Amino acid sequence: MPEGAYRWFVYAELVLAAVTFVALCFIVAPYGGRHGRTGWGPTVPARVGWVVMEAPASILFLVFYLLGEHRGELVPLLFLLLWQAHYVQRAFIYPLLMRSGSRMPVAVMLLAILFNLLNAWVNARWISEYGSYPVAWLADPRFWIGVVLFVVGYVLNVSSDRILRKLRGDGSSGYRIPHGGGFRLVSSPNYLGEIVEWTGWAIATWSLAGASFALYTIANLAPRAMANHRWYRDSFPDYPADRRALLPYVL
Ligand code: NDP
Repeated sequence: MPEGAYRWFVYAELVLAAVTFVALCFIVAPYGGRHGRTGWGPTVPARVGWVVMEAPASILFLVFYLLGEHRGELVPLLFLLLWQAHYVQRAFIYPLLMRSGSRMPVAVMLLAILFNLLNAWVNARWISEYGSYPVAWLADPRFWIGVVLFVVGYVLNVSSDRILRKLRGDGSSGYRIPHGGGFRLVSSPNYLGEIVEWTGWAIATWSLAGASFALYTIANLAPRAMANHRWYRDSFPDYPADRRALLPYVL
């Protein structure tokens, strides 16, 4: 870890993960339709909110990456590719495909932008400036274990979001019980996929920067997965009893 301000940004992200986890155990963040509530100030269509809050994670990451001394090296470039594979789809494809008429509080959107700014700085600066990833890192099992987890998580995340979209293929706007894919085992396989992805990123980069994002993702999505699960059980008397919230057979 370098001396100077950078390390404090990483520590800040770790503290934020802990604060987020505790806060979200008491409040369900109102950025989606089913947990939406009044009293959070002005709102924007969810589709707009997703683009505005997630675009910085792609664009600023690229800008911060390009500031780094190692920007032209193979392994950092591969990390850039993984990051952009996720965030280009999250910021520019997912919002266009989503079938949701829900609205997002501007406050939630602004908080997400601030987090994405911090997270992009912490991770991009690590992979292209402060970290060291010579070509020999490609022979390290941590790199490949991490990349495989990232890809598996990505596929689970995207395919689960697709199953949810298909539930509204007839143009309806209500909620149904999702079936198939990861939904056979858990209520929020999209969140599980996201968590597996960033755990893979943490392992492949073997860095505190990556670990802080993985921990933040767990802190953010685990309480939300529990809230989704409770909501399904309360809303559908015939909800599959053996389906868990987030971790197959466990939680
Ligand atoms: P949800 O699973 O709550 O909703 C995803 C979409 O599917 C929404 O459009 C929602 O509609 C719709 N939907 C959900 N359940 C049903 C159902 N039973 N029947 C019909 N439609 C349904 O996901 P989030 O909105 O919380 O998150 C979206 C994506 O963003 C996920 O892939 C998640 O992993 C990712 N994410 C990542 C975070 C991170 O920290 N890295 C943080 C937050 C999200 P509606 O809007 O009307 O409810």
